[in-house]
Amino acid sequence: MAVNLLEYDLGGLAAFCAGLGEKRFRAVQLFRWIHQKGEADFSRMTDLARSLREKLPGLAEVRALPVISEHVSADGTIKWLFDVGGGNAVETVFIPEVDRGTLCVSSQAGCAVGCRFCSTGAQGFSRNLSTAEITAQLWFAEHRLRQHLQLAEGERAIDNVVMMGMGEPLQNYTALLPALRTMLDDHAYGLSRRRVTVSTSGVVPMIERLRQDCPVALAVSLHAPTDALRDDLVPLNRKYPLHELLGACGAYLERAPRDFITFEYCMLDGVNDAPEQAQALVRLVKGRAGAPAVACKLNLIPFNPFPASGLTRSPRERIVAFAKVLQDAGIVTTVRKTRGDDIDAACGQLAGEVQDRTRLNERLTRRPVRIPVRAAAADGAGR
Ligand code: SF4
Repeated sequence: MAVNLLEYDLGGLAAFCAGLGEKRFRAVQLFRWIHQKGEADFSRMTDLARSLREKLPGLAEVRALPVISEHVSADGTIKWLFDVGGGNAVETVFIPEVDRGTLCVSSQAGCAVGCRFCSTGAQGFSRNLSTAEITAQLWFAEHRLRQHLQLAEGERAIDNVVMMGMGEPLQNYTALLPALRTMLDDHAYGLSRRRVTVSTSGVVPMIERLRQDCPVALAVSLHAPTDALRDDLVPLNRKYPLHELLGACGAYLERAPRDFITFEYCMLDGVNDAPEQAQALVRLVKGRAGAPAVACKLNLIPFNPFPASGLTRSPRERIVAFAKVLQDAGIVTTVRKTRGDDIDAACGQLAGEVQDRTRLNERLTRRPVRIPVRAAAADGAGR
């Protein structure tokens, strides 16, 4: 099978081109055509040497992921379901905001971590995505949105990427790294390191690797202020307990593009939302509970219930009271707005339709893609 050029960062593409006897600047041209212009047809890459244009077909291709469905929320959020073969599907979500467009990208089909509050975790783990499958989500979304939002040449639709879709990105590090490099590369998407966020449940050794290889913004799924509770909610905590995790976060900050770590905290009614737990959280991040202090922001996430979890969302007033304890202690705290509820694109809901489709594999036939309602997306994006 022809190699999918979405598999490569620029270094990888240069090596591929060198194998064809081509100089590095040809790889740069090719990379720009693919990622900056969204071109998949080599014959249209007009400034590539004709000899290279003639060599590539058959050896290489730019292979997008097949789209199973595309849904547009009333608030402009767009959710794509991509077929990654073998009965597996992954989701990618575009979230338009006033000042930016965010893409939430998946790194695995399913997830092995098994957090209790996460519907992706409940579905189990199928497999790691390849670099091409991770990059293809951004490649497709950026160029599809440019077309539908009718953006001018050079304008981009997505300026913020969060690796917060399905999967634990740091358990698929080898594939993740070239995809991150492509996101950051000025010859491709040119995103700021501050605008690319890897979200992890706490794979401590790989936080250190990321710090060395490609320090981007880091978000950590914390969800509990003590090991006893976190062992239950985020089973990976049994392997990497809080003092190790916070130590890794502190070390990460030495090279991070932001001077804080974002801690995600899913608000679960009667489980982790008591005022005393907020106080324990303050003690934890300020270094008064046996773990190192970490400069951080807290992002409180109202839980999106799914039937198998047996959990419910904290009431609004309890979330507000929890946030106040943190804010009074001087910790910047936000409560995440839920977006795309009507299309199940809110955080932690990404596996709902996938799980259903996986179970009903025989129904995994392509449905016609619904074109986004331009007005809704454009209004939502404020463009
Ligand atoms: S929250 Fe993240 S790490 Fe935990 S099960 Fe869900 S996808 Fe995996």
